[in-house]
Amino acid sequence: MSAPDASTVPDRATVVDALRWQKFPVLDDGFVALVDCMGDDGSVVQAARVSYGEGTRKVSDDRQLIRYLLRHAHTTPFEMAELKFVVRVPMDCWRQWIRHRMASVNEYSTRYSLAIDSMQATGDDAWRSQAANNRQGSAGLMAKSDGERLTQSEHELQNFARKVYEERLEAGIAREQARKDLPLSTYTEAYWKIDLHNLLHFLALRMDTHAQLEIRRYAETIGQQIVAPLFPLVWEAFLDYRVEAMRLTRLDRETIQRLVSQSGSQAFPASHDAFLAAQDPSWKDLTRSRERDECLEKLVALGLVTRSA
Ligand SMILES: Cc1cc2nc3c(=O)[nH]c(=O)nc-3n(C[C@H](O)[C@H](O)[C@H](O)COP(=O)(O)OP(=O)(O)OC[C@H]3O[C@@H](n4cnc5c(N)ncnc54)[C@H](O)[C@@H]3O)c2cc1C
Repeated sequence: MSAPDASTVPDRATVVDALRWQKFPVLDDGFVALVDCMGDDGSVVQAARVSYGEGTRKVSDDRQLIRYLLRHAHTTPFEMAELKFVVRVPMDCWRQWIRHRMASVNEYSTRYSLAIDSMQATGDDAWRSQAANNRQGSAGLMAKSDGERLTQSEHELQNFARKVYEERLEAGIAREQARKDLPLSTYTEAYWKIDLHNLLHFLALRMDTHAQLEIRRYAETIGQQIVAPLFPLVWEAFLDYRVEAMRLTRLDRETIQRLVSQSGSQAFPASHDAFLAAQDPSWKDLTRSRERDECLEKLVALGLVTRSA
């Protein structure tokens, strides 16, 4: 990929002004918006070079330096930039989000204020079945005919929960207690401030296909709509070296080496049986091995093995 042309890169202040307070919709009633941003690609470069200052360095030099830093996990220069967001997120999703400790948070208080009168609703074509091979994950979509029933009962449950909540408030019950039976689909809002290094860590984990779809949508939106235009060089390196990268473990590498040496003149992709013959000895006696599955995924992605038996 070639370096961005410096003459076509928009002025940073213009980008920040265009983004600030712009609500990017996520899910049915959520959003993310940038409140403030300190720093840009240049702040990362400046911190790494410490003594040079901005000087007359070319964009291409900055790009190479950022790519080097990201590739080799020299992380502190990325901590020099900070971003502050306001987000509106269903509470189940927020529960995952808030596990990322290296951020500062102020959340809407349902002790102090009325709970937001909005709950995330699932469309009749959006119910996902339980994945068979991953206890944490979803598989395909349910049939719409089943979804209609599920969406209808969700609607009834959410309305009933809100009604009970409002009845309690009318009866004079404290907001802090009245809220206890609101569903996890209820939206909350929060300010969320984080440095660029920890934001990239969050995005790498939560844009990944292993993350739940709902939080993935938030991470993708933050990444593509906000981080990419604010930090184009960092974003490009992040995609190349984190999101699109593949880490091979020692066991993976040795499996590949055995596969190559045992395959002789056979063309790749090798068969699934050939993969099983080449697998790490510690996986051989296991009926199920997550690590073997992950290794197979990588080798399939590299075009070295076919998935089917
Ligand atoms: C796909 C997926 C599935 C998950 N499943 C579960 C689950 O089933 N159950 C569950 O409980 N959690 C689960 N989590 C949450 C996960 O275990 C982490 O808590 C979460 O992703 C936050 O990651 P983090 O600690 O690296 O990030 P942050 O808290 O933002 O921290 C960033 C980095 O700072 C450093 N750091 C922060 N705090 C400390 C500390 N106290 N000591 C030392 N270093 C620190 C670490 O290097 C850390 O990586 C899951 C996460 C993902 C992405």
